[in-house]
Amino acid sequence: MSVRPLCVEPHGVLRQPAAPITRWTDETRRLARDLIETMYANDGIGLAAPQIGCSTQMFVANPSQQQGQELVVINPVVEAAEGRASVIEGCLSLPDVWDRVRRAARIRISGRDVNGEPLTIRAEGLLAIVCQHEVDHLHGQLFIDRLSWFRRRRLQMRFTARSRKNRSASSAQ
Ligand code: ZN
Repeated sequence: MSVRPLCVEPHGVLRQPAAPITRWTDETRRLARDLIETMYANDGIGLAAPQIGCSTQMFVANPSQQQGQELVVINPVVEAAEGRASVIEGCLSLPDVWDRVRRAARIRISGRDVNGEPLTIRAEGLLAIVCQHEVDHLHGQLFIDRLSWFRRRRLQMRFTARSRKNRSASSAQ
């Protein structure tokens, strides 16, 4: 088990649709454990595989932050979404960005668990929000994509400026 480095916007892997998992191996279980450990190490309540540089369809979630209650979801498909919710979200791949996002209030997701067994999740409240946020990651989407054009543009300029600064800082050394 290990805590893996986080990929931060504008890292390309965050914008890539993740590939479905077709084989359930030790590698699958290791990835699930690494995701859980990395989520806790960063005080997160959800984490998707692309955020640690792995473009495969797996996410973990645990809004209660109680150890042992983690949800591992592989190849998720949102089967139903209803109602409206609007919650202020943040993302470990978008440091220091928080904004209100509109999503469905209740969802039903089908997928597989870490052993490849079929799984159905019916969620509302914070878990429903986290699951939608993480499914977006697997489609190469970030929560800022759901904001108004103006707000998104301002945030993107901030990230581009930051990555330019980092690049020139590293080339100077
Ligand atoms: Zn996120």
